Amino acid sequence: MIATRTYDLIAGDRFLELDGFHPEFSTTVKLEGLNPAGSIKIKAAREMIERAEEQGLITQGRHLIESTSGNLGVALASICAAKGYPITLVTDPNANARTVRFIRALGARVVTVTNRDSAGGYLRSRIAYIHGRLAADHDLIWLNQYANPANAAAHSRHTVTEILDGFGVPDWLFIGTGTSGTLMGCVRRLRELGLPTRVVAVDAVGSVTFGDVPGPRWIPGIGASRVPEIFHDDASFQKVLVDEVDTIRMCRRIAGRHGLLLGGSSGSALAAVHALRDRIPSGARVLALSPDMGEGYLDTVYSDEWVAERFGRGALDAPAETAAVDHLLPL
Ligand code: PMP
Repeated sequence: MIATRTYDLIAGDRFLELDGFHPEFSTTVKLEGLNPAGSIKIKAAREMIERAEEQGLITQGRHLIESTSGNLGVALASICAAKGYPITLVTDPNANARTVRFIRALGARVVTVTNRDSAGGYLRSRIAYIHGRLAADHDLIWLNQYANPANAAAHSRHTVTEILDGFGVPDWLFIGTGTSGTLMGCVRRLRELGLPTRVVAVDAVGSVTFGDVPGPRWIPGIGASRVPEIFHDDASFQKVLVDEVDTIRMCRRIAGRHGLLLGGSSGSALAAVHALRDRIPSGARVLALSPDMGEGYLDTVYSDEWVAERFGRGALDAPAETAAVDHLLPL
């Protein structure tokens, strides 16, 4: 394939079945980290920019701004570089250092907010910063991935099609939840098509999206300290909360057993599969979305010092055996 735009090189057809993940059912990951800009967020970024263009919002002299835990920032920075749009990305100390360098190398401006909000995270602080900037500068355009319907539409249009074309109809589909764009878009399309896939939404303990008590989290990608506007629980999917220690253990288990270095939220999705293993029927085809790869997590999830400092040395020893399972719909 010869493309003329970087963001058209979406690798929607990369699936890896994890041999022996569970003896009774098959577990496959959809590797979104092989996309341009390194993550699933290229699809949301492209859709949001193209809808804003169609609405005539992006005109000469205007400047884009967006809040990001990292991956959307890289994706937006890549698209904006190609299109010549100036953009500022607002992020926080949990963003991978490499990701921030990546964004800067693509020519975007990065602002890092450092004050934790009342929910223990940074999202509200990032949004408060953006509101301050919007009030002072009327030429700024905020894409607002947490409320922008184009974020979910990207996954209705593309992610579900890629899954059906490249994998078929999954019996179970595990999806990490940050803005919930991936989850909402996939659920909507699967239900429109009348498909029986059991969708499991995966979030981190300490994230408030599923109504959990807020608490500090360290791994970027999933979780939110305020419920995203686009999140709507229509009771057609299950919700699982995973402890970050289990995320780390699962990432390391996959690296050691399969030679595949996955990002944090991929570990969370697989930890959720593991946690639900006794409920998944024998012979089921399970698919977990893997939003990014693990190189950006070498100094965190895959660093013994980093893990021991935050979670204690015990987090390094035990296998991935437990995951907090909460708010489950009855099966
Ligand atoms: N995993 C990673 C690594 C991400 O960067 C994101 C986006 N923040 C997600 C999962 C969650 O995706 P979404 O925002 O569509 O819920």
